[in-house]
Amino acid sequence: MIRIEKLSKVYYPGTVNEIVAIRDVDLRVAEGDFITIIGSNGAGKTTLFNLISGNQPATTGRIFVNDRDVTSHAEYKRAAYIGRIFQDPRLGTAGRMALEDNLIIAFKKGMKGLKISLNGRRRDFFREQLTKLEMGLESRLKDNVGLFSGGQRQALTLLMMVISRPSLILLDEHTAALDPKNASIVLDLTTRFIREYGLTTMMVTHNMGQAIAYGNRLLMMDKGEIILDVAGEEKKNLTVEKLIDKFHKIRHASFENDEALLSP
Ligand code: ATP
Repeated sequence: MIRIEKLSKVYYPGTVNEIVAIRDVDLRVAEGDFITIIGSNGAGKTTLFNLISGNQPATTGRIFVNDRDVTSHAEYKRAAYIGRIFQDPRLGTAGRMALEDNLIIAFKKGMKGLKISLNGRRRDFFREQLTKLEMGLESRLKDNVGLFSGGQRQALTLLMMVISRPSLILLDEHTAALDPKNASIVLDLTTRFIREYGLTTMMVTHNMGQAIAYGNRLLMMDKGEIILDVAGEEKKNLTVEKLIDKFHKIRHASFENDEALLSP
C-alpha cells in the first residue's frame, strides 16, 4: 500500500556542507504492517518521515500511497491519509480548544463524505471512545486540552488519529518525552489501537528492546540507508545482542567494500 522508490534527500547539495540524509531508499509497506525503525543519531529516520508526510520535498524519488503517486502532494493534503505523532505531546492537539472540539475535528476528518448526523449521539460516541483511554477524560469534554498532562495529550492524539482513519501512521519517538509510567501507558494504548483497528504503522524508537518487542517488521537505518529489514520469524527470534552484532557485520562488510573500491 505504501511504495517508496529511489527516495533521496540531500541538504546543501553541491556545497562543502552537503549532507545526504536519505540515500536511494526503496521500501514497500503492506497494509496492516507495524514497522519499528531504529538507527543512530543522524541516520535519517526523521527525514524519512518528513519526506513521507510531505513536510519536506524529496530531492529525487517517488512515494505512492495505495498506488497513487503522492510525491508532489503538499503536507496538508497528505494529512488526510497520513497521520503523524511527534515527541512533543503539544503538537498533536490544539491546547486552547476544548477536548470536545479537538475530537470534532478528528471526527469530521474521518467521516468525510459520510452522512452521519452530528447531534447528541456524537457526544456519547466521544465519551465511549475516551473511556478506552482509561484516563477519566470522558468526564472532561469541556476542558481545554492545554490543561492535560503530556501522557493524556499523547493518548488523546492517538485516539484522534484512530478516529480520523489515516492509511498510514508515523510515530516519531512519540513516547520519548513522557515519564516512564506514561510512556508505558501510551505505548500499550498504541499497540492496542494498532491491533484493534489494523492500522498500518511505522514507529521510530531509540529503544532496541522496544523495536524488537513491538511490530511485525524492523528496519535499521544508518547514514541515510535501510541497512537491515527483518520480519516474521526472524524478527521474533531477534535479541538486542543479535541486532548489535548484525549492525557491526553489515557496517564492517560495507567498510571492506569501500576499501576494495579504493584499492588499485
Ligand atoms: P535522531 O535520532 O538524532 O533524531 P535521525 O535518524 O532522525 O536522528 P535526521 O534528523 O533525519 O536523523 O537527520 C539526518 C541527517 O540530515 C543529519 O545529518 C541531520 O543533521 C541532517 N538534517 C536533518 N534535517 C536537516 C535540515 N532541515 N537541514 C539540514 N540538515 C538536516
